[in-house]
Amino acid sequence: MRPFELVRPDTMVQAIEYLQAYPAAKVIAGGTNLLDLMKEDVEQPHILIDVTRLPLTSIVITDDGSVRIGALVKNADLAYNPDVMKGWPLISAALLAGASPQLRNMATTAGNLLQRTRCYYFYDTAAACNKRSPGQGCAAIKGHNRIHAILGSSDQCVATHPSDFCVALAALDAIVVVQGPLGERRIAFADFHRLPGDSPERDTTLDRHEIVTAVELAPSAYAVHCDYLKLRDRRSYAFALVSVAGCLEIRDGVIVSARIALGGVAHKPWRDNRAEQSLIGKAPGKDAFAAAASILLSEAKPLRDNAFKIELSQRAIVHALMRAAAGSLHKLPLELGNRPLQ
Ligand code: SF4
Repeated sequence: MRPFELVRPDTMVQAIEYLQAYPAAKVIAGGTNLLDLMKEDVEQPHILIDVTRLPLTSIVITDDGSVRIGALVKNADLAYNPDVMKGWPLISAALLAGASPQLRNMATTAGNLLQRTRCYYFYDTAAACNKRSPGQGCAAIKGHNRIHAILGSSDQCVATHPSDFCVALAALDAIVVVQGPLGERRIAFADFHRLPGDSPERDTTLDRHEIVTAVELAPSAYAVHCDYLKLRDRRSYAFALVSVAGCLEIRDGVIVSARIALGGVAHKPWRDNRAEQSLIGKAPGKDAFAAAASILLSEAKPLRDNAFKIELSQRAIVHALMRAAAGSLHKLPLELGNRPLQ
């Protein structure tokens, strides 16, 4: 690892001043992704801005029943927070499907949003990668691309976003709160992560001088009928080949609203309003869910090695929505082990 300087601001103003003063600086909190990238020489910051002294560690339920999650809340603390488990069980389930207990004890809310792709060519500095070095080319497009995107990719990059948490946040229409030199900005979750297009080096719409301060979730209509299903090569400590956050609001046996977000298939969590709308007014069931899945995957374009992800996604969506309709997650308390214990 290359030498670097560590600065530790005590206030948000100081942290933003450091970002403005040092264009090549990187923000660090849990360090569970950035340190790996530095060891692999993918990232070479001369200065790290350690933000762990900032007061961003609380989980607050507001008067209207929303939750505001501080950017430095650890993934484990969030997953096992009683209010979150009760009101937003999808969040707990997605967090506990990710990484390992040790990593969840270190990784933060903002860090989870800002983690980078696990495309193996991105980590291999001998391989061409437009995300790491713009203009270099993309080794994955004609290389080994089993784990790569089937939706929303470009001829510059076919990487996927690795987070489980973000798939749940996308389904629940979270808001990302950020602070910069011009004050606070609130970003709809769908607008926070980018598709690669012609500039795959940019993962998000966060400005260079902004810091994520919180994530907010409105009271959820999906606390009972939701599910997070993650499919991967091994049972534990692996990124998703495909994951599904499925949410249904059911009244008198009829779906009145639905959310479906896919992970492991695109550069950002993938949603399609047309698929969700197709379920409204229908009774929950395999046929309706399969039709919605077909709409969601209608624009999927496989690479050489990942056509299997289309069928896998189709089946995973149906399975997750059947479990959501049955309220499986709601019935089985997380602490009793119904969710993956990695
Ligand atoms: Fe780099 Fe994206 Fe290509 Fe992977 S898919 S090698 S991250 S440009």
